[in-house]
Amino acid sequence: MTLQERSLRATGNRPRRISILGSTGSIGCSTVDLLRRDPGAYEVEALTARSNVSLLAQQARELKPRLAVIADESLYDALKDALSGTNVAVAAGAAALEEAAAADADLVMAAIVGAAGLKPTLAAVARGKTVALANKECLVCAGEVMLKAVERSGATLLPVDSEHSAIFQVFDFDNVEQVERIILTASGGPFLDLDLARMKDVTPAQAVAHPNWSMGAKISVDSATMMNKGLEVIEASYLFPVPEERIEVLIHPQSVVHSLVGYADGSVLAQLGTPDMRTPIAYALAWPRRTGSPAARLDLAQVGQLTFRAPDPERFPALTVARQALKSGGAAPTVLNAANEIAVQGFLGGEIGFLDIVAVVSETLEMLPSGSVTTLEDVVAIDAAAREAARGQVARIRARH
Ligand code: NAD
Ligand code: MG
Repeated sequence: MTLQERSLRATGNRPRRISILGSTGSIGCSTVDLLRRDPGAYEVEALTARSNVSLLAQQARELKPRLAVIADESLYDALKDALSGTNVAVAAGAAALEEAAAADADLVMAAIVGAAGLKPTLAAVARGKTVALANKECLVCAGEVMLKAVERSGATLLPVDSEHSAIFQVFDFDNVEQVERIILTASGGPFLDLDLARMKDVTPAQAVAHPNWSMGAKISVDSATMMNKGLEVIEASYLFPVPEERIEVLIHPQSVVHSLVGYADGSVLAQLGTPDMRTPIAYALAWPRRTGSPAARLDLAQVGQLTFRAPDPERFPALTVARQALKSGGAAPTVLNAANEIAVQGFLGGEIGFLDIVAVVSETLEMLPSGSVTTLEDVVAIDAAAREAARGQVARIRARH
């Protein structure tokens, strides 16, 4: 039986049971929106959030999950109060988050941001679930560990990242040897045409104002440095059987062509759509079927022109740094991810400048030995060491200013 047949047989025509890890974030809210529009098609098992009690409670009152979890334990009573009089079970803390991930659902939407989502996502994978993966940092910091867990449990990973969803939709998994390359498109972010001298002084507010997509703060900054595309190259190398040197990046400011796959006969297949995450989320929720999404329809006559160009490595060095980490392998991608999370936090908190973000990541990669990463414990230890080293860098830069 193919993966698709197995999945269809598992759920048939009964409602799909869904858990959302990170339901209060940008991807989480888009997912909630799709569930809300088609109540007969879904049942909700669990919703989780870090600290936004009021939004989590509002979502839980509406979607009636069995369980709502707040990661910050000090907010347990607040969530309990907010959900009093409902049948929703309430829990808090890291262990409860993993329980929610492993609970009885057909599909788990992994939409926590950063390596904080790794343990819960792995808990869902270990239970052999279908995991809709938005949380790309999981694959970047623990790719091998995740893939081994998938192999052991028979879990299915469905990409939610728009580029990877596009590739998944046009990738001929039955003719892998005929796939020559995959091409990830990148909008280029808000500073696509800004010169380096002016990039030095951009503010967090300017960096999070993405021209096409509305997203959480961390990924918006990653898009502005283009580290996001670097993380996505690493993500793609784990999701698709294609080596780093055949994963290309193409700047496409309109964000209409979401990515492409090139075949040996010269054909290039792409998936297109308006930039609205509800399209790739809907694809993952219904896979291997399709379902509706309220995303605006693509009107190419109105778009008029689609443009493309090569990325500029001088002004956007993050892409090169990430590729190098992928080529080095071992601990390097784990260090890259952790250092980037700390650097982005430092930038958003006004401690370091925009151009310091990639500098901190490069420095941290140079400082840390590149040991091997085979277990979750390895990942946790290297992630912690990289965070500490990157915090040191941030403090040094701050002291200089
Ligand atoms: P966000 O910041 O809007 O939301 C993050 C969610 O994770 C929130 O629900 C928050 O409560 C939860 N969370 C954060 N830290 C946590 C912690 N320590 N413990 C438990 N929960 C925690 O982020 P987002 O933009 O929705 O992105 C989520 C993931 O999806 C990221 O990995 C991002 O790269 C990826 N992604 C997002 C988009 C997008 O359009 N937003 C597109 C592609 C991929
Ligand atoms: Mg993306």
